[in-house]
Amino acid sequence: MIIPSDTSRRRFLATALSSTLGVGLGAAALTACGSDDQPTGEAATGGTKPPDTPAQPAGGHGPEVEPPVANGNDALKRLMDGNQRFVANQAVHDDEGAERRVAVSKAQHPFATVLGCVDSRVPVELVFDRGLGDLVVVRSAGEVLDHSIIGSLEFGVAELQTPLLMVLGHQRCGAIDATIKALDSKEAEEEGEIGYLVGALAPAVRQVAGKPGDRLANAVHANVDLVLAQLRKSTVLGPLEKAGKVRLVGAYYELDTGKVIVN
Ligand SMILES: [Zn+2]
Repeated sequence: MIIPSDTSRRRFLATALSSTLGVGLGAAALTACGSDDQPTGEAATGGTKPPDTPAQPAGGHGPEVEPPVANGNDALKRLMDGNQRFVANQAVHDDEGAERRVAVSKAQHPFATVLGCVDSRVPVELVFDRGLGDLVVVRSAGEVLDHSIIGSLEFGVAELQTPLLMVLGHQRCGAIDATIKALDSKEAEEEGEIGYLVGALAPAVRQVAGKPGDRLANAVHANVDLVLAQLRKSTVLGPLEKAGKVRLVGAYYELDTGKVIVN
Protein backbone atom coordinates (compact mmCIF):
# COMPACT_ATOMS: atom_id res chain seq x y z
CA MET A 1 0.00 0.00 0.00
CA ILE A 2 1.23 3.45 -0.83
CA ILE A 3 0.22 6.37 1.29
CA PRO A 4 -2.15 8.26 -0.99
CA SER A 5 -0.58 11.62 -0.47
CA ASP A 6 2.88 12.97 -0.03
CA THR A 7 4.68 10.29 -1.98
CA SER A 8 7.17 12.78 -3.33
CA ARG A 9 7.76 14.15 0.15
CA ARG A 10 8.42 10.68 1.41
CA ARG A 11 10.85 10.03 -1.40
CA PHE A 12 12.65 13.17 -0.37
CA LEU A 13 12.70 11.95 3.21
CA ALA A 14 14.03 8.62 2.14
CA THR A 15 16.83 10.11 0.10
CA ALA A 16 17.74 12.67 2.69
CA LEU A 17 17.71 10.31 5.61
CA SER A 18 19.15 7.14 4.17
CA SER A 19 22.70 8.42 4.24
CA THR A 20 22.51 9.74 7.78
CA LEU A 21 20.59 6.88 9.32
CA GLY A 22 22.29 4.02 7.54
CA VAL A 23 19.21 2.53 5.97
CA GLY A 24 18.74 1.55 2.39
CA LEU A 25 15.55 3.22 1.29
CA GLY A 26 14.93 2.35 -2.31
CA ALA A 27 11.68 2.46 -4.23
CA ALA A 28 10.88 -1.03 -2.98
CA ALA A 29 11.01 0.09 0.61
CA LEU A 30 8.74 2.99 -0.16
CA THR A 31 6.15 1.10 -2.14
CA ALA A 32 6.18 -1.78 0.29
CA CYS A 33 5.43 0.57 3.14
CA GLY A 34 2.53 -0.80 5.08
CA SER A 35 2.04 -3.70 2.70
CA ASP A 36 1.56 -7.23 3.87
CA ASP A 37 4.98 -8.10 2.60
CA GLN A 38 7.22 -8.30 5.59
CA PRO A 39 10.96 -8.57 5.35
CA THR A 40 12.15 -12.12 5.56
CA GLY A 41 14.44 -13.34 8.26
CA GLU A 42 17.19 -13.61 5.70
CA ALA A 43 16.70 -10.07 4.51
CA ALA A 44 16.57 -8.90 8.08
CA THR A 45 20.04 -10.20 8.70
CA GLY A 46 21.65 -9.18 5.49
CA GLY A 47 21.66 -12.76 4.27
CA THR A 48 23.22 -14.47 7.23
CA LYS A 49 20.89 -16.78 9.09
CA PRO A 50 22.43 -18.79 11.91
CA PRO A 51 21.07 -22.28 12.41
CA ASP A 52 17.97 -22.62 14.54
CA THR A 53 18.50 -23.41 18.19
CA PRO A 54 16.00 -24.42 20.84
CA ALA A 55 13.91 -21.67 22.35
CA GLN A 56 15.48 -19.96 25.31
CA PRO A 57 13.81 -19.89 28.72
CA ALA A 58 11.75 -16.87 29.75
CA GLY A 59 10.91 -15.94 26.19
CA GLY A 60 14.39 -15.15 24.98
CA HIS A 61 15.19 -16.09 21.41
CA GLY A 62 18.87 -16.92 21.70
CA PRO A 63 21.23 -16.55 18.77
CA GLU A 64 18.67 -17.50 16.12
CA VAL A 65 17.00 -14.81 14.08
CA GLU A 66 13.49 -14.00 15.16
CA PRO A 67 10.82 -14.06 12.47
CA PRO A 68 9.49 -10.64 11.51
CA VAL A 69 6.43 -9.56 13.44
CA ALA A 70 3.17 -9.97 11.51
CA ASN A 71 1.42 -6.90 12.87
CA GLY A 72 1.17 -4.45 15.74
CA ASN A 73 -0.27 -7.03 18.09
CA ASP A 74 2.71 -9.30 17.49
CA ALA A 75 5.07 -6.41 18.04
CA LEU A 76 3.36 -5.48 21.30
CA LYS A 77 3.58 -9.06 22.53
CA ARG A 78 7.29 -9.12 21.72
CA LEU A 79 7.78 -5.94 23.71
CA MET A 80 5.75 -7.14 26.66
CA ASP A 81 7.52 -10.50 26.74
CA GLY A 82 10.76 -8.60 27.07
CA ASN A 83 9.35 -6.43 29.82
CA GLN A 84 8.24 -9.52 31.73
CA ARG A 85 11.79 -10.84 31.58
CA PHE A 86 13.08 -7.47 32.79
CA VAL A 87 10.61 -7.36 35.67
CA ALA A 88 11.51 -10.92 36.69
CA ASN A 89 15.21 -10.06 36.57
CA GLN A 90 15.58 -12.65 33.79
CA ALA A 91 16.66 -10.38 30.97
CA VAL A 92 18.47 -12.39 28.31
CA HIS A 93 20.15 -9.52 26.43
CA ASP A 94 19.96 -11.61 23.26
CA ASP A 95 20.43 -8.76 20.83
CA GLU A 96 23.39 -7.02 22.42
CA GLY A 97 26.36 -9.15 21.41
CA ALA A 98 28.84 -9.06 18.57
CA GLU A 99 26.86 -11.63 16.56
CA ARG A 100 23.81 -9.43 16.56
CA ARG A 101 25.89 -6.36 15.79
CA VAL A 102 27.21 -8.02 12.66
CA ALA A 103 23.80 -9.39 11.70
CA VAL A 104 22.19 -5.96 11.57
CA SER A 105 25.16 -3.98 10.33
CA LYS A 106 23.97 -3.84 6.73
CA ALA A 107 20.22 -3.43 7.22
CA GLN A 108 17.74 -2.78 9.96
CA HIS A 109 14.22 -4.06 10.44
CA PRO A 110 13.11 -2.83 13.86
CA PHE A 111 9.72 -4.11 14.98
CA ALA A 112 8.48 -1.18 17.09
CA THR A 113 8.84 2.56 17.45
CA VAL A 114 8.76 3.89 21.01
CA LEU A 115 8.52 7.47 22.22
CA GLY A 116 9.67 7.70 25.82
CA CYS A 117 10.91 10.25 28.34
CA VAL A 118 14.55 11.25 28.77
CA ASP A 119 14.39 10.06 32.39
CA SER A 120 17.60 8.16 33.19
CA ARG A 121 15.58 5.42 34.87
CA VAL A 122 13.59 4.53 31.76
CA PRO A 123 16.06 3.32 29.12
CA VAL A 124 13.72 1.84 26.56
CA GLU A 125 15.81 -1.06 25.25
CA LEU A 126 16.59 -2.19 28.79
CA VAL A 127 13.04 -2.18 30.12
CA PHE A 128 11.94 -4.27 27.13
CA ASP A 129 15.05 -6.48 27.13
CA ARG A 130 15.78 -5.67 23.51
CA GLY A 131 18.97 -4.71 21.74
CA LEU A 132 20.62 -3.75 18.47
CA GLY A 133 18.29 -3.28 15.53
CA ASP A 134 15.11 -4.00 17.49
CA LEU A 135 13.54 -0.65 18.29
CA VAL A 136 13.31 2.87 16.93
CA VAL A 137 13.58 4.90 20.12
CA VAL A 138 12.79 8.59 20.34
CA ARG A 139 13.01 10.31 23.71
CA SER A 140 12.10 13.76 24.93
CA ALA A 141 11.29 15.08 28.39
CA GLY A 142 7.68 14.21 29.16
CA GLU A 143 7.37 12.77 25.61
CA VAL A 144 6.89 16.35 24.42
CA LEU A 145 6.46 16.58 20.66
CA ASP A 146 8.01 18.97 18.21
CA HIS A 147 8.70 18.79 14.49
CA SER A 148 11.82 16.69 14.77
CA ILE A 149 10.25 14.28 17.26
CA ILE A 150 7.17 13.76 15.10
CA GLY A 151 9.31 13.44 12.00
CA SER A 152 11.47 10.83 13.69
CA LEU A 153 8.39 8.85 14.71
CA GLU A 154 7.02 9.09 11.17
CA PHE A 155 10.34 7.81 9.93
CA GLY A 156 10.17 4.80 12.24
CA VAL A 157 6.65 3.91 11.22
CA ALA A 158 6.50 4.84 7.54
CA GLU A 159 10.05 4.22 6.36
CA LEU A 160 11.28 1.52 8.71
CA GLN A 161 7.77 0.02 8.69
CA THR A 162 7.34 -0.72 12.36
CA PRO A 163 3.73 -1.86 12.86
CA LEU A 164 3.65 -0.54 16.44
CA LEU A 165 4.09 2.95 17.84
CA MET A 166 4.12 3.18 21.62
CA VAL A 167 4.04 6.35 23.70
CA LEU A 168 5.56 5.45 27.05
CA GLY A 169 4.91 7.70 30.03
CA HIS A 170 6.26 6.83 33.43
CA GLN A 171 5.73 7.06 37.16
CA ARG A 172 6.98 10.22 38.91
CA CYS A 173 7.92 11.95 35.66
CA GLY A 174 10.10 14.89 36.64
CA ALA A 175 9.15 16.97 33.61
CA ILE A 176 5.46 16.75 34.43
CA ASP A 177 6.12 17.27 38.13
CA ALA A 178 8.07 20.43 37.24
CA THR A 179 5.13 21.57 35.13
CA ILE A 180 2.76 21.09 38.06
CA LYS A 181 5.04 23.14 40.27
CA ALA A 182 5.46 25.84 37.63
CA LEU A 183 1.71 26.17 37.17
CA ASP A 184 1.10 26.21 40.91
CA SER A 185 3.73 28.84 41.65
CA LYS A 186 3.70 32.47 40.74
CA GLU A 187 7.38 32.46 39.97
CA ALA A 188 8.96 33.63 36.75
CA GLU A 189 8.83 31.32 33.76
CA GLU A 190 11.46 28.66 33.31
CA GLU A 191 14.62 29.74 31.55
CA GLY A 192 15.71 28.59 28.13
CA GLU A 193 13.71 25.98 26.33
CA ILE A 194 12.53 24.32 29.53
CA GLY A 195 9.70 26.80 29.32
CA TYR A 196 8.76 25.19 26.02
CA LEU A 197 8.45 21.83 27.78
CA VAL A 198 6.30 23.33 30.53
CA GLY A 199 4.04 24.96 27.96
CA ALA A 200 3.65 21.68 26.09
CA LEU A 201 2.88 19.69 29.25
CA ALA A 202 0.53 22.24 30.80
CA PRO A 203 -2.63 21.02 29.01
CA ALA A 204 -2.26 17.56 30.60
CA VAL A 205 -1.80 19.07 34.06
CA ARG A 206 -4.81 21.35 33.63
CA GLN A 207 -6.92 18.49 32.31
CA VAL A 208 -6.61 16.52 35.55
CA ALA A 209 -7.19 19.42 37.94
CA GLY A 210 -9.58 18.41 40.71
CA LYS A 211 -9.69 14.74 39.69
CA PRO A 212 -9.38 12.09 42.39
CA GLY A 213 -6.20 10.10 42.78
CA ASP A 214 -2.56 11.01 42.43
CA ARG A 215 -2.27 14.27 40.54
CA LEU A 216 1.10 13.52 38.97
CA ALA A 217 0.15 10.01 37.84
CA ASN A 218 -3.12 11.35 36.44
CA ALA A 219 -1.24 14.01 34.50
CA VAL A 220 1.21 11.46 33.10
CA HIS A 221 -1.69 9.36 31.79
CA ALA A 222 -3.44 12.41 30.40
CA ASN A 223 -0.26 13.51 28.69
CA VAL A 224 0.19 10.14 26.98
CA ASP A 225 -3.37 10.40 25.66
CA LEU A 226 -2.81 13.95 24.43
CA VAL A 227 0.43 12.98 22.70
CA LEU A 228 -1.33 10.08 20.98
CA ALA A 229 -4.13 12.37 19.85
CA GLN A 230 -1.59 14.79 18.42
CA LEU A 231 0.26 12.00 16.62
CA ARG A 232 -2.98 10.82 15.03
CA LYS A 233 -3.17 14.22 13.33
CA SER A 234 0.08 13.50 11.49
CA THR A 235 -0.60 13.15 7.77
CA VAL A 236 1.70 10.14 7.78
CA LEU A 237 0.69 8.35 10.99
CA GLY A 238 -3.05 9.01 10.92
CA PRO A 239 -3.75 7.37 7.55
CA LEU A 240 -1.49 4.43 8.35
CA GLU A 241 -3.36 3.79 11.58
CA LYS A 242 -6.73 4.06 9.82
CA ALA A 243 -5.51 1.57 7.22
CA GLY A 244 -4.57 -0.86 10.00
CA LYS A 245 -0.89 -0.69 9.14
CA VAL A 246 0.28 0.63 12.48
CA ARG A 247 -1.09 0.27 15.97
CA LEU A 248 -0.74 3.25 18.28
CA VAL A 249 -0.70 2.47 21.99
CA GLY A 250 -0.13 4.38 25.19
CA ALA A 251 1.67 2.80 28.12
CA TYR A 252 2.90 3.60 31.63
CA TYR A 253 6.19 2.48 33.13
CA GLU A 254 6.24 1.88 36.88
CA LEU A 255 9.58 2.83 38.38
CA ASP A 256 8.79 0.81 41.49
CA THR A 257 8.21 -2.51 39.74
CA GLY A 258 9.74 -2.18 36.27
CA LYS A 259 6.37 -3.05 34.78
CA VAL A 260 5.06 -1.49 31.59
CA ILE A 261 1.28 -1.27 31.72
CA VAL A 262 -0.45 -0.80 28.37
CA ASN A 263 -3.44 1.52 28.46
ZN1 LIG B 1 9.79 11.75 32.63
